[in-house]
Amino acid sequence: MEDEFLLEILYRTCIMFVVILLVLRLSGRRGVRQLTLFEVAIILGMGSAAGDPMFQEEVPLLYGVTVLFTILVIYKGVTLLSVRLKFLHEILEGKSMVIVQEGEFEIKHEKDADFSQMEFFAELRNQSVEHLGQVRYALLETDATLSVLFYPDDDVKYGLPLFPNHYKAIKTLPINKPCACMFCGRVEEELLAIDAVCPRCQHKEWALALNTKRIS
Ligand SMILES: [Zn+2]
Repeated sequence: MEDEFLLEILYRTCIMFVVILLVLRLSGRRGVRQLTLFEVAIILGMGSAAGDPMFQEEVPLLYGVTVLFTILVIYKGVTLLSVRLKFLHEILEGKSMVIVQEGEFEIKHEKDADFSQMEFFAELRNQSVEHLGQVRYALLETDATLSVLFYPDDDVKYGLPLFPNHYKAIKTLPINKPCACMFCGRVEEELLAIDAVCPRCQHKEWALALNTKRIS
């Protein structure tokens, strides 16, 4: 009895595997590099519906298959609707968020719990951004990828360094060297004190600004 069901698990698993692939192909997505929260929810639902009938005798395959195709129809339907209804799109996918504008961090999200400056530093470094003065505009997309627009080489200005070797608070007051606020990226041509208050965000830590061009 036990062994017989083992054999059944084999064929149930094969069938469900084919069904999952089929449903995923029908969903129209090309891959899963980045998922929105809505898609993660869909996949969680599918995972359980696909997995249970593989090894649970009392769950018929047909039930699992029915759930998968129902979820597929919901996914397709809601995706179609959200193309037309902006508010639905925002509920499901969230909004894109401006991170950098004209070489400075956008600080209006400062109090958002999901706004992590350090994370964006890392993202920008991943895109070979040495300092904020190279960045004209950076947008956090709803799938959590970061889109970056750069200044042309001739327009690169002084900006906050993002790599640890230069992202360091100044210890002495520099002369004739622009400094950048370590919190918001605001650049001051000439600091009056080593702990001057940033006029933009009221923080008091400064790093020497860089104006190196991008090397691509
Ligand atoms: Zn600041």
